[in-house]
Amino acid sequence: MKFRLVTLAAAIMLIAWAFFCFPLSRRVFRTDRGDCVVMIIDAGHGGEDGGAVAADGLKESDVNLAIALRTDQLLGLCGIPTRLTRDSDDIAYPDYAETTRQRKRADQEYRAALIRGTDRGVLLSIHQNNYTSSGPRGAQVFYSSVSGSEAFAKEMQANLALLCGDHRKAAPVSEDIYLMRQANCPAILVECGFLSNPEELSLLRSDEYRTKLALALTAGCIHHYQELEAHYGKG
Ligand SMILES: [Zn+2]
Repeated sequence: MKFRLVTLAAAIMLIAWAFFCFPLSRRVFRTDRGDCVVMIIDAGHGGEDGGAVAADGLKESDVNLAIALRTDQLLGLCGIPTRLTRDSDDIAYPDYAETTRQRKRADQEYRAALIRGTDRGVLLSIHQNNYTSSGPRGAQVFYSSVSGSEAFAKEMQANLALLCGDHRKAAPVSEDIYLMRQANCPAILVECGFLSNPEELSLLRSDEYRTKLALALTAGCIHHYQELEAHYGKG
């Protein structure tokens, strides 16, 4: 119930803010949305791939999904079209994938195809960080080499800094990340926080902080939406 109230209050404030403060509201609240930019929300990992695991057993994949679902709801309330690469922890692996490695690969290929097949898409991939020592904390945004990604990452980093503190700067993503390499649209990967930092882990466990993170991500998307439209030749 508490989560619902927080989400509802946050959503009302967000919509009011989007509607009154930005000329963008003329676009996102219209009904002919066929040529709008589509936010593709990727909850990192999932299924057999839990991602990083905290000392207390919290799986990164579960935190990613919780934040992704909230972000999807909030963007939807603001009239921004979205697509989720997954909406649960159950991944439908193809029959031919016999090993865990093959199943993970198949899932990544499915997500890449979804991203590449989305017209006017922009990728927002949600992850949690982990480190060998407990000191590092804070959110960090990484961007792909596709044009439009770096500016979006910097905008998102600025929005997250209001919530998480100004610890970090947006940076290019590692070439090792398959999905970010495959995305042919503007793409950012957000490491929302460190599972290895005890205080941040306790925050990442809470519904309230997950909602706040989703709000920050939504605000970043709204704030940069006109630039993303301009990327696709309209703005
Ligand atoms: Zn991850």
